[in-house]
Amino acid sequence: MDFDFESLNSAVGLAGDAGTATGKIANAISTVQGLFKKSEAAGNADIKLALSDLTLQVANAQVANADLKLQLSALQDKLREAQAFKSDLDRYALWETPAGAVVYRLEKDIRNGEPRHYLCPNCIETKRKSILQGHSGFRDCPNCQRGFSFDEMRF
Ligand SMILES: [Zn+2]
Repeated sequence: MDFDFESLNSAVGLAGDAGTATGKIANAISTVQGLFKKSEAAGNADIKLALSDLTLQVANAQVANADLKLQLSALQDKLREAQAFKSDLDRYALWETPAGAVVYRLEKDIRNGEPRHYLCPNCIETKRKSILQGHSGFRDCPNCQRGFSFDEMRF
């Protein structure tokens, strides 16, 4: 799940550049329109039609471009979120409790004052971090209510 932020950034940049390019074309068209108004060609219906068609196309391209930019930056936000989740999850490892249940256990970065804790593997699947609550023998997930045995049964 490694995302290529570099190419995504350049895509967003490209969308921005294209927006500037369509803006320049729009300016060029209005200049041409201004010139035509001053000449006898102003009476030419074909030229008028072609110019207004072109103007419409540029306007559509600008709207499409703005939409694309919005979609790209929304995607970028989602990817950033997903990567933050992943790098947080990288601090945990799947661990089998003495009782045989499998949970995520905090392995790294315990130094920043976090107590050792366990995450619900069920909720991780839905990209949700849920810390198991309970005691050394049994813990359950406050989100999905699934329970996990920790200590081995003693007979
Ligand atoms: Zn859960």
